[in-house]
Amino acid sequence: MLENKSESRTSLSDIGEFKLIEHLTKDIILHHKSTIKGVGDDCAVLGNSDKLTLVTTDLLVEGVHFDLSYMPLKHLGYKAVMVNLSDVYAMNGSAKQITVSIAVSNRFPLEALEELYAGIHLACKTYKVDLVGGDTTSSTKGMLISITAIGEVEKKNVVYRNGAKPNDLLVVTGDLGAAYLGLQVLEREKQVFEVNPNAQPELENYNYLVERQLKPEARKDIVELLQNLEVKPTSMIDISDGLSSEILHICKQSKVGCSVYEDKIPLDQQVISTCEEFNIDSTTVALSGGEDYELLFTIAQEDFLKIKANPNLSVIGHITEENEGAQLITRGNQKIEIIAQGWNTMS
Ligand code: ADP
Ligand code: MG
Repeated sequence: MLENKSESRTSLSDIGEFKLIEHLTKDIILHHKSTIKGVGDDCAVLGNSDKLTLVTTDLLVEGVHFDLSYMPLKHLGYKAVMVNLSDVYAMNGSAKQITVSIAVSNRFPLEALEELYAGIHLACKTYKVDLVGGDTTSSTKGMLISITAIGEVEKKNVVYRNGAKPNDLLVVTGDLGAAYLGLQVLEREKQVFEVNPNAQPELENYNYLVERQLKPEARKDIVELLQNLEVKPTSMIDISDGLSSEILHICKQSKVGCSVYEDKIPLDQQVISTCEEFNIDSTTVALSGGEDYELLFTIAQEDFLKIKANPNLSVIGHITEENEGAQLITRGNQKIEIIAQGWNTMS
């Protein structure tokens, strides 16, 4: 497998996803002026003119990113598109096309792929995106879906992860933690079902959580809203891995610190009650849960009045100098350093 047999072996799980990407891409030399941004943001940014092209790709693997025992294929198709569109919106852009590549084992009949594509087509229709190509191949085990999304943004509107400045406000859309809890609820029902196949799933109290896990919506509306409010964020990222790791991406790339106030983190009532029931801390779930596909962005303080009244947007803190680090200010007014969360699967 390795060309140099004497080389020592480093376990990937010891490095983690972000360090691995950094390691593999650190020596890339860009050959083209038109590659404005390569590795390191939610999308690559390409172009020579006032209109830039955005490109992003994500790979979903059965057993790692989805479990077909509770993920209907139609939802999976829809979600696979959302995951990609979310990255385009995180650049303040609009998504135009996708390509879809799949690898499937012979366990899947035609009808299964029709369902998957019903979800993909629905996402394309809802979000006005054209499906323009892809690739189809077989796999020895399970299903893999790789979607690439292509979008565009006016040069003057593009927002990177690296533009946050001290005193900017840190803003998050929607609410956090529900998708992760939805997954926990579905996992629990799966275990009940494995013991007793006649058991009826009990999901009524968790409908919002399950919907957030199975049918996330990318925040196209926020890009439009910010345009209408005439607010251009100074930095932006989508929340796919959990609030804490996205905050750290912005801080690292912008070379700043931040203060995030625990009591400002937006949580749905169902998240709060389910956390109580499961005896887990709702802040931990919001910080580390992931798959929310909300947007996290920073704005200059003078834009505060423009966003203040909007129920979709919560100011959760502000940007500080780099040497102050990334801090969570707890309800008890303690300062805790924000660390990247430790879910072991690579996302
Ligand atoms: P996101 O969660 O926003 O999709 P990722 O954390 O997956 O972003 O990726 C971070 C950056 O690293 C992106 O610019 C992505 O294109 C790049 N990247 C990820 N994996 C690879 C890889 N295997 N080779 C080259 N670039 C990669
Ligand atoms: Mg992203």
